[in-house]
Amino acid sequence: MELKKNYIDGAWAESVTGRTQEVINPATGEIIALTADSSEEDTNRAIASAKRSFYVTREWRNLNGQARADMLLNIAALMDQKRALLAQTDTLDNGKPLREAEGDVDDAIHCFRYYAGLVTAPSGVTYDVNDGFGPMHSYTVAEPVGVCGQITPWNYPLLMSTWKLAPALAAGNSVVFKPSSNCPLSTVMLFEIFHEAGMPAGSVNLVLGSGGAVGHTIASSMDVDMVTFTGSTKVGQSIAADAVKNLKKVGLELGGKSPNIIFDDCDLDGAVEWAMIGTFFNQGQVCSACARIYVQDTIHDAFVEKLKAKTEAMTIGNGLSNPDIGPLVSKDQMEKVLGYVEKGKAEGATLVTGGCRYTEGECAGGFFVKPTIFDNCTQNMTIVREEIFGPVACIVPFHTEAEAVEMANDTEYGLAGTVCTKDGAKAIRVMKEIRAGILWINCCQPTFNQAPWGGYKMSGIGRELSVHGLEEYQEVKQVNIALETGPIGWYEH
Ligand code: NAP
Repeated sequence: MELKKNYIDGAWAESVTGRTQEVINPATGEIIALTADSSEEDTNRAIASAKRSFYVTREWRNLNGQARADMLLNIAALMDQKRALLAQTDTLDNGKPLREAEGDVDDAIHCFRYYAGLVTAPSGVTYDVNDGFGPMHSYTVAEPVGVCGQITPWNYPLLMSTWKLAPALAAGNSVVFKPSSNCPLSTVMLFEIFHEAGMPAGSVNLVLGSGGAVGHTIASSMDVDMVTFTGSTKVGQSIAADAVKNLKKVGLELGGKSPNIIFDDCDLDGAVEWAMIGTFFNQGQVCSACARIYVQDTIHDAFVEKLKAKTEAMTIGNGLSNPDIGPLVSKDQMEKVLGYVEKGKAEGATLVTGGCRYTEGECAGGFFVKPTIFDNCTQNMTIVREEIFGPVACIVPFHTEAEAVEMANDTEYGLAGTVCTKDGAKAIRVMKEIRAGILWINCCQPTFNQAPWGGYKMSGIGRELSVHGLEEYQEVKQVNIALETGPIGWYEH
């Protein structure tokens, strides 16, 4: 079986210890690849390479904006040529239905194109000022931060990599990248594309291995100027603590437990479909999943009946055959989700459907969980408070708008939220009250390169995507020019 290696200083390299890790297809439980299992030493080599690239050779950083944009467009074109293979790779590695993986690849390609466009957009501001020292012309310039460490999760392997790499490279940084060891394969392909496209040696470095070794070394290194991380809130906290050492810049995209408030004046069939997308898309392994579903008591029974019928009609299978639901990413994740199902039952929620592993036919060896609905949940239940990261909907009935808003905000997280109603004023009123970074009205989950992505409270720090996503990877410098040369006579008073 071919070994997937690290990419350091423009060359592929095994880990210094020769240790490897297995990559498993979650639909079958079979090993599909081996990767390097890197150590602190491998990571430090990659950091040294990025540091040399940024501070010594400066090839990538010194390119003008148009040349950097051309490279990003070239990368997008190469990804487009390999679209089918990239999508199949994410499906094999992560389990997601192929049509969802294809959507991810298209979004990733557009993300590189979007940041290629932004690189050539005007930037900076100018001022004419005088604060008593004579007339000055003042302007700002955006510069790359330096060496950026980037660490990603497994739920959108290619897309999460792209959301970090495209803006960081657009800004002119050099990068050390660690993907999740669960699903690293499409990111390895992306680095093959960087190599083929001719990215300068050292500007992009890939280190494969565990978070405890590679991720921790990146986050705590004195030679890394910035660390950006997408993953769980718990690991995000440890990264922030590691980063304190040299006060590096930190960007955190963390977990969530987002609400979906469904009022009785909604389009009921539309609300049911968006609730399914909000809960079951990507097998529910979505940070912005809106699986805490608050339904107004007047339509509660009709909503649950329709949701149950549509959920039970969902197809389950190997992602390659394009079912509605594929496997969860790993055996551990499946067991974690089934553990939450047991908790829900024990704490008194009503199991409407699902709630067990699925092992029919081709699914026998995979990590499948039937799409699950719990009804009559209450705010204090574990399944309502904690991020499950699996296909589990938790329905909580409510009576008044104020009650729904209060329960929606009763969480330590603040990533996303949804409201379904035909009353525009009510929708805007509720959206204004929800303490979260990403909100949807009469829809759930659509995401755009143009719009900022990120959370309030314990869902993170900073924003990805949009112009904000580029600014995260930049420092801003002010330059002040005296418009009259010579002494100003400050001490002659
Ligand atoms: P995770 O366990 O936090 O892992 C994320 C990444 O961090 C992996 O690459 C992991 O490496 C690495 N890591 C683990 N321990 C580390 C440490 N001590 N220091 C540095 N890095 C470390 O999260 P996950 O299970 O992969 O992903 C699911 C989570 O991601 C959910 O909570 C979800 O909400 C969140 N997420 C958030 C967003 C967002 O935009 N807000 C988007 C997607 C996912 P290994 O696993 O390879 O050891």
